[in-house]
Amino acid sequence: MIVENLAKVRDNIEDTRKKRSPENREDVRLIAVTKNHDINEMRQAIDAGVTDIGENRIQEAKEKFDKLDRKVTWHLIGHLQTNKAKQAVKLFELIHSVDSLHLAKAINTAAGSIGKVQKVLVQVNLAREESKSGIFVEDLEELLHAVDEMPNLQLMGLMCIAPNYENVEECRPLFAKMYEIFNKVKEMTFTTANILYLSMGMTHDYHIAVEEGANMVRVGTGIFGPRQY
Ligand SMILES: *Cc1c(COP(=O)(O)O)cnc(C)c1O
Repeated sequence: MIVENLAKVRDNIEDTRKKRSPENREDVRLIAVTKNHDINEMRQAIDAGVTDIGENRIQEAKEKFDKLDRKVTWHLIGHLQTNKAKQAVKLFELIHSVDSLHLAKAINTAAGSIGKVQKVLVQVNLAREESKSGIFVEDLEELLHAVDEMPNLQLMGLMCIAPNYENVEECRPLFAKMYEIFNKVKEMTFTTANILYLSMGMTHDYHIAVEEGANMVRVGTGIFGPRQY
């Protein structure tokens, strides 16, 4: 099933991307979200061409990292606690969930201690949901500049998680707004930042996210089926 699902997701992304206007028809990077799925499922997806893996818990990612006999790029997509920053920088190529100065500082220190420049995205809580992490948009600029100034971090873009609306079309204005913010951020003057990625869209809403300009999507259920908890 995984191979077929993956092909379907890929086709959907490609079809949607091609419908965008010529100036933003850039490639969309698919991150296969493997939380709560095992190593064998991961291997199947990787052997079918997945190059990017997303996990949201450090402990689970660490166990899989040690076991997985395949070379992939690891993404931390879930909330990170500052006391786990040290472990996170050892595992992940890109951390999508920087949402406070406090956390940015902890990651910067942890990365420095192993001589790494950690690539990060800043997570925005555009819908201002209490239950979700992410920085409010009015505080975004200040955090972006602070991250840019940290010697062991490289800012690569923005991430957001849309609310779980009953009617998925309600996500569209939020994604459109995120794309607008992303383009403004690209115009900002930074020292080391390289603003390339807008990470938005999950199984139920990635088709809309891609239509609205996402160039990184995080799909779990659509590839691996429902998670068993
Ligand atoms: C679990 C998760 C996903 C993937 O969710 P699906 O609905 O299974 O595609 C994407 N992003 C984040 C931040 C997640 O925690």
